[in-house]
Amino acid sequence: MTIVLVSDQRERVGIGRPHVVLLGAGASLAALPNGDKRGVKPPLMTNFISTLGLEPLLRDHGVKHIPDNFEALYSSLHGKPEYQSLLPELEQRVYEYFAAFELPDTPTLYDHLLLSLREQDFIATFNWDPLLVQAYIRNRKVLRELPTMLFLHGSVAVGHCPDHLGKVGPVGFRCPECRNGFVRTPLLFPVEKKEYSASPFIAREWEAVRLVLKDAYMFTVFGYSAPKSDVEAVALLHGAWDSNSSREFLETEVIDVKPKEEVEATWEPFFFSHHYSVHSSFYDSTLGTHPRRSGEAVFRRTMLCEWLEQDPFPKHLDFPALYDWLQPFLAAERAPNRKGFDAPESVVTPPSSASAEAVGGASGPRRAAPGSGGRRITRRHGEGGRTRGRSKRRRG
Ligand SMILES: [Zn+2]
Repeated sequence: MTIVLVSDQRERVGIGRPHVVLLGAGASLAALPNGDKRGVKPPLMTNFISTLGLEPLLRDHGVKHIPDNFEALYSSLHGKPEYQSLLPELEQRVYEYFAAFELPDTPTLYDHLLLSLREQDFIATFNWDPLLVQAYIRNRKVLRELPTMLFLHGSVAVGHCPDHLGKVGPVGFRCPECRNGFVRTPLLFPVEKKEYSASPFIAREWEAVRLVLKDAYMFTVFGYSAPKSDVEAVALLHGAWDSNSSREFLETEVIDVKPKEEVEATWEPFFFSHHYSVHSSFYDSTLGTHPRRSGEAVFRRTMLCEWLEQDPFPKHLDFPALYDWLQPFLAAERAPNRKGFDAPESVVTPPSSASAEAVGGASGPRRAAPGSGGRRITRRHGEGGRTRGRSKRRRG
């Protein structure tokens, strides 16, 4: 068995298909172990009502039974005429609460997550908080090659132009097409029958995540517990992942602090045979042990039967040292003739996506920068042109 050194792993960039990461509330909590810049920790659905101090507001509107869980509460109020004036107030309180969160100045797990992925990759988040976007903005000042973000339940940090749906940016910034200010994206609240199609912005994010899952090479679920009110959402994601054309080679990873058996029971439908792993920490997952080369690491381990030296993400470095550490990775990725794998013909070819699938218009800070041609999924400007490029992918 060959032992592959870190230097060789950093040099070879052979997987052209995206790694898709799905984030839930547990990820934001893990990103702020000591709270945000003010020391405040993000709430979970189970302590949401007390953390946000919503009880007086609810009592004022005649709500008598107040459960601990915000999902149960919101579902019980939604659609009832007597609470028609309460819901917008409740939503405004939630919006303001999340909008106040601010990342600490030092690198957080969200910075590490963004830097451990490449431009071809995607992070789809269920979280309303602005933390991931704040991390994106500060790293984007130094590095263009960051993944694309998708906001499946909306976000307090992202605005959009209602007339030009692909255009997104901070609320108040101007749409480059019509010069109108970006408006808030709606937050999708936890009710069992969510109206994913009611907001064109959210409908678009969902369409995008389904498209990229069909083309992805790896899927990581991080801190997302798939609550009851998201049954439909999970079914949509599962349908997309399951219809991926190379399903039998794909790797699913789950990062969750819950007991392994519980996690496996929740995500079992997403696993193909033994192609999965469960980790209690991001730093133990493939992104943490083989940053920016996660797809390559899985390919080399499973298809080339190589033994890989670990190349752990240096979680204690400050920003300047972190960017220095990234240089060899970036140099290999930016090289005009990237060094891939010289696998013998009998071995399965590394999946390289030649299918440029349009998942909508592109602009704003979160969109992937142009660069690597047809080797990644791109968002294209323009409506109705959801084109599926011809795939040159070879199946093994
Ligand atoms: Zn516009």
